[in-house]
Amino acid sequence: MSVPNDHQTSHPKNLAYKGQLICPYCQYSFPLTWHRYWAAPLGSYRCPQCKKLSHLKANSVWVFPILVIGIIFIFGIPSLALAYISNNFLAGAAFFVISSLGIVIPIDKWLDGHLRRLQIRSQ
Ligand SMILES: [Zn+2]
Repeated sequence: MSVPNDHQTSHPKNLAYKGQLICPYCQYSFPLTWHRYWAAPLGSYRCPQCKKLSHLKANSVWVFPILVIGIIFIFGIPSLALAYISNNFLAGAAFFVISSLGIVIPIDKWLDGHLRRLQIRSQ
């Protein structure tokens, strides 16, 4: 398989995938790893450089209705079909919850690293 050469070969693909957080105190940028994501369920991240705590700006209110509607369309219909065909509501519900979380969590992490910005926490 040949990869076409484009003009952006210097772009760091790994970093682009993980996303990047920028410390509002010292401007140090660090990749958002899964470890950091799981350690910060409320969106608070500690800078590895200056050790200060900052939090993600919650500016994504519009994201959640879109996600919810999308999930209902993408997974709700097959879940209902599964529940109907197997005559097992629990199987359909379990399929819906597992498949939804499997999509929402990576999307949420991606948003953290790409669209949201760390801010100084006002005490
Ligand atoms: Zn810092």
